[in-house]
Amino acid sequence: MIRISLLALGICHFLAPDSFGYGASGHEAIGRVAEFYLKGSRAETEVRALLKGNEDLARAATWADRVKIPDKYLANEMKEFVANNPLHHEFHYCDVPFQEKAYRDGLVGTNDHDLIHTMRACIKVLQSPDDAADNPLKISKRVAFMLLTHYIGDLHQPLHVGSSYVDENDKFVNPRTGAKGLPDAGGNFFRITAKSTLHAYWDTMTVKLARDKAGEKDFTAYLVENFPVKPEWNATGDINTWPEQWATGTLLLAPQCFEGLTLGKRFLVPKDEKHEEHYEWPATLAEGYKEKARDIVEQELAKSGYRLAALLKAIWPEK
Ligand SMILES: [Zn+2]
Repeated sequence: MIRISLLALGICHFLAPDSFGYGASGHEAIGRVAEFYLKGSRAETEVRALLKGNEDLARAATWADRVKIPDKYLANEMKEFVANNPLHHEFHYCDVPFQEKAYRDGLVGTNDHDLIHTMRACIKVLQSPDDAADNPLKISKRVAFMLLTHYIGDLHQPLHVGSSYVDENDKFVNPRTGAKGLPDAGGNFFRITAKSTLHAYWDTMTVKLARDKAGEKDFTAYLVENFPVKPEWNATGDINTWPEQWATGTLLLAPQCFEGLTLGKRFLVPKDEKHEEHYEWPATLAEGYKEKARDIVEQELAKSGYRLAALLKAIWPEK
């Protein structure tokens, strides 16, 4: 597989390995919603055969983040995945300018191992008659399933698909138009507080706010009941095109992450063990931003759980 240097393109979350998708709580919720929609299907049986005795979809949905800990703590299955895929931290996102209206291969912020390409690779492994066929990630069907269960959640976090680029006047620009802008690394370079970033806000704070809104009610039941399936949640055509179709849907939400966001004066952050030298910006959120973000994310959690089930049912249709 050809690896394009993200550093050369200047668009790199891999400098910011602190992007963890929806956090364990969000990914687990997506797994549970998918379990709800899988009930009684052939796909449910096939999934059960891939899981170990003590695992469920909620557990499966965090596998791709759990492999990020130091190698010495990993089980052999995870060690092998990491050894074969040293860039696996980059599989969780793409950085398409939020002004774009659709994901497509070759756009600024995409590459051959971004979230969409990696999901396609996982789908192919699950569709193929054996593990060896067309398998650049060198993964088993079980690992392909674990990854897909996680990545579908990332695909529904707007800052895992859309990104901003900031010019010298601290204004958002689209580099595809020729304007020069520095990457925000999916919001990782925007500081909401000294310790928290815009990316982390969308990963975890929004999920916490949604859980608080659900109150005492079981969160899966809350999501399923309050967000019934909409016709537009269903993708069309070959399932290998579904990740791209869904990325486009998420990209259309991404502008809302940047509306109501005010950037302060940039400051230079020196190179450390995680990041190359780069600029960051203090960022403040307008009144009402919190509720807007929460309401987007709770729908995204419900939608991605439904879509995970739909994808698995398409891979293993009823006989
Ligand atoms: Zn992730």
